[in-house]
Amino acid sequence: MVAADPDWTALRASFQGRIEDSVTGKESFGTDATGLRAEPSAVVAPEDPSDLVRLIAWARSNRVPLVARGGGTSLTGGSVAFGEAIVVDFSRWDSIHEIDAKNRWARVGPGVINRALQRKAASEGLFFPPNPGSWETSTLGGNAATNASGPRSFRYGSFRRWALQANLVLGTGERFAVGTRSSKRSVGPELLDVFIGSEGILGLFVDLTVRLAPIPPRRTALAVPLNGKARVGPLAQRLAAAPQLTFSAIEYLDALTAGELAKIESSRLPSGPAILLLEVESQSPEEEDRQLGFLQQLLNEIGETQEALVFPDADALWSLRGKSGLALDRRFGSRLREDVAVPLGIVDRLMDSITSIAAEAKIPVYVYGHLGDGNLHPNFVIDPADPAAERIRERLLTETLRLGGTISAEHGIGWLKRSYLSGEIGAVGVELLRSLKHRCDPDGILNPGKLLEASSDVR
Ligand SMILES: Cc1cc2nc3c(=O)[nH]c(=O)nc-3n(C[C@H](O)[C@H](O)[C@H](O)COP(=O)(O)OP(=O)(O)OC[C@H]3O[C@@H](n4cnc5c(N)ncnc54)[C@H](O)[C@@H]3O)c2cc1C
Repeated sequence: MVAADPDWTALRASFQGRIEDSVTGKESFGTDATGLRAEPSAVVAPEDPSDLVRLIAWARSNRVPLVARGGGTSLTGGSVAFGEAIVVDFSRWDSIHEIDAKNRWARVGPGVINRALQRKAASEGLFFPPNPGSWETSTLGGNAATNASGPRSFRYGSFRRWALQANLVLGTGERFAVGTRSSKRSVGPELLDVFIGSEGILGLFVDLTVRLAPIPPRRTALAVPLNGKARVGPLAQRLAAAPQLTFSAIEYLDALTAGELAKIESSRLPSGPAILLLEVESQSPEEEDRQLGFLQQLLNEIGETQEALVFPDADALWSLRGKSGLALDRRFGSRLREDVAVPLGIVDRLMDSITSIAAEAKIPVYVYGHLGDGNLHPNFVIDPADPAAERIRERLLTETLRLGGTISAEHGIGWLKRSYLSGEIGAVGVELLRSLKHRCDPDGILNPGKLLEASSDVR
């Protein structure tokens, strides 16, 4: 809730960064990848952490909410400035301060684009494993705040596993450094973990140190058209369990999504069948041949006899895979997009639930996702503003929890799923999170109404 009359003159007098309040200057900051829209009262870009501390002091005394924003690719409404909030634009904090190749870490500004870090790290023979489909446009700050992951998270895990240290400014205006560069420590619960995935409600990242991994000598990306003989859960489990194969990604596109993605220029994906997208890592050409031969043999045994297509540039395949949502945007516009996960062994039960929820609602559903992680993204073709869409979401999330899964594998809770939070972490979990929020942000100015429901936010 914004104070009736924030003192803009005081802000202009103390703040050194850019303040944008023209309608055209604010326009592109009014939405995120959900298509939800709310006009911010201003967009501000602090010069440096001290400027951010001044902004927070002003926001506290004027009771103005602040919404941190990196690339604005959130799929949960997380970076939309509801309630006339001010957007804090970190996109210019895009300096890669340091890469320590020997110790394998990078210190970056929160506005560094994920792919830009990948490119820079590659010149040192290293890479940053979390590679979300949005890697050309999302930032390290946003990736940290959502505990993002991507296709290669099957082998390497999500952001949290790669975070070493962070510097933040809390909602109190205190500067807080958290984490360590040691590869392990045992000093109580790891507080850094609390801030990864905190969706900008506790503090704002001003810099991050992340671990890097050595680029494997050979990476082979493959598209395997499926003939539908085997169910995808046991198929993925069998592949994942084969000790002869080193997969870094096991991705799935159903036939409908693959058909849309095949229309993208230079796609090379076949249209017609459902497809598995795989990445295999190997140390030498001989080992690569051995793994690919074994893979084809295993697929034949399972009954999947179609030849796999090899993609020489694995990263190009992951960029194409990242356009799945875009391909569906082109065809259908906005729709109900979800992000749920269950243990891999029961992913077919989740798939069946998705199909029956869509059939009962008499709407098409397109499904793709990070299959190896049991993470599916069903896209129900229904206007998300239709009240029936929320009933579909509720059924899907309830069913996912019943199966022992999670209501968000990687996109976060944001605005769209805040009312479902207690279903997953329970009343005590929500209470703990609220106490933490109260300590870090007593006035509730940071991203109110996101992750937690609004009641205890801006007071
Ligand atoms: C085409 C497409 C593909 C995608 N694929 C994936 C995928 O494979 N895996 C995946 O995990 N996600 C994916 N996403 C979702 C999205 O890209 C991720 O959630 C991403 O991490 C958001 O980064 P961002 O820089 O765009 O953050 P924003 O949208 O700007 O912000 C996201 C959240 O982070 C907070 N935040 C931003 N910067 C800071 C900061 N400096 N300090 C504190 N909080 C901050 C915001 O307030 C907000 O709550 C995809 C999205 C799209 C559009």
